[in-house]
Amino acid sequence: MTVVVRFAPSPTGLLHLGNARTALVTWLFARRAGGTAILRLDDTDVERSRPEFAAAIDRDLAWLGLDWDRTVRQSDRAADYDDAIGKLKAAGRVYPCYETPEELSLKRRSLLSRGRPPIYDRAALDLSEADRTRLEADGRRAHWRFRLDHEDIAWDDAVRSAVRFHGKDLSDPVVIREDGSPLYHICSVVDDIDLGISHVVRGEDHVANTAAHIQMFRALGAGPPAFAHLPLIVDAAGKGLSKRLGSLSLAHLRDEEGLEAMAVNSLLAKLGTSDPIEPQRSLAPLIDGFDFAKFARATPHLDPAELARLNGRILHETPFAAIADRLRTRGLAQADEAFWLAVRPNLEKLGDVDEWWRITHGPVTPVIEDREFTGAAAGLLPAEPWDEATWPGWIGAVKKATGRSGKGLFQPLRLALTGLDHGPELKVLLPLIGRDRSVARLTGTPA
Ligand code: GLU
Repeated sequence: MTVVVRFAPSPTGLLHLGNARTALVTWLFARRAGGTAILRLDDTDVERSRPEFAAAIDRDLAWLGLDWDRTVRQSDRAADYDDAIGKLKAAGRVYPCYETPEELSLKRRSLLSRGRPPIYDRAALDLSEADRTRLEADGRRAHWRFRLDHEDIAWDDAVRSAVRFHGKDLSDPVVIREDGSPLYHICSVVDDIDLGISHVVRGEDHVANTAAHIQMFRALGAGPPAFAHLPLIVDAAGKGLSKRLGSLSLAHLRDEEGLEAMAVNSLLAKLGTSDPIEPQRSLAPLIDGFDFAKFARATPHLDPAELARLNGRILHETPFAAIADRLRTRGLAQADEAFWLAVRPNLEKLGDVDEWWRITHGPVTPVIEDREFTGAAAGLLPAEPWDEATWPGWIGAVKKATGRSGKGLFQPLRLALTGLDHGPELKVLLPLIGRDRSVARLTGTPA
């Protein structure tokens, strides 16, 4: 079977980790199957859609490394939606309704207060021609609903297995607004037909929509595609991610938190699956390991601390060649491979590197408690070139000359050399600091 999938964000806000997971899973599935991955921008809501959000979606997806074989904008496809609406009208599958939003919400509340599901009562189906003419004369404009057949609707979901609905348990979906413009349901189904979508991958908040969509596919003379509904991710407190848009948007994680895209991918590709979550430095192993059969139906919890841990583990394995450009754009053009290899085991986020650069290259305020001791140690520093053997050699000499050992030997030297009481091994740091800076710091006269 030829796999054609689409990721269909609405450019009405920033992508968060939940959207990113849908994008990634959709993309991995397509690439695993050698299929086609389409980016579809659901931008028919002219009031809420913004070009800057569309641009942010492009930037975020490119950052994750997800490329698309084709991009489609719903705003370019109005004529196709009109055609489909014409067909549904001719077939009597859509009907005009005149309730105001207030009237509809009153109906919903009254049903709920009687413990009944808030399903639209189809009152508009009982309107006569004369009723409609009168309503129109009163200035009311019709919105249109798709009339669902009251029959079983079932499909075999790639994640949820057998799913079953009955048409009478669903509200007839509104498909045309009062101004005549088409709504999500109809646009999505028409696109999925025209683009030859083989599998619709989306969040489980769309499960009931899918039941209605299956009837729309048939009403438009098409067979429905296969479906995969992913359980929605929640945070550690059990809250949906859209509630935490600010802190869990991709833009924030990238620009403010400085996370690696592959940390995000490594987590999102495996979250809620039977595979372990492991750091990956490229998408290739995630493509190879992709299988919907591994996805569980349970709600996955996302722990930001896990993201941070993965991020660190990825950095610890990143070679200098893969990071050199990004060090340069951080203003660390002089950082070389020796520096990178020495500091990377200490990084959780790439931004931490700035501090290590400062510690090795200054400015550092040495902490000196016993100037006589650190001064004596400075006098014992050997001539350069230095390497990792320099530290043990020097320490041996300082120990012999001063009689100090253990913490009393090491801690004052670390405090003077770095200004801190903790950090990477000094045998690694010392050659990066170099002789001139070491002498200056040990004697309390830093440059
Ligand atoms: N724009 C819809 C959303 O973001 C797309 C859902 C779908 O994949 O059909 O929820």
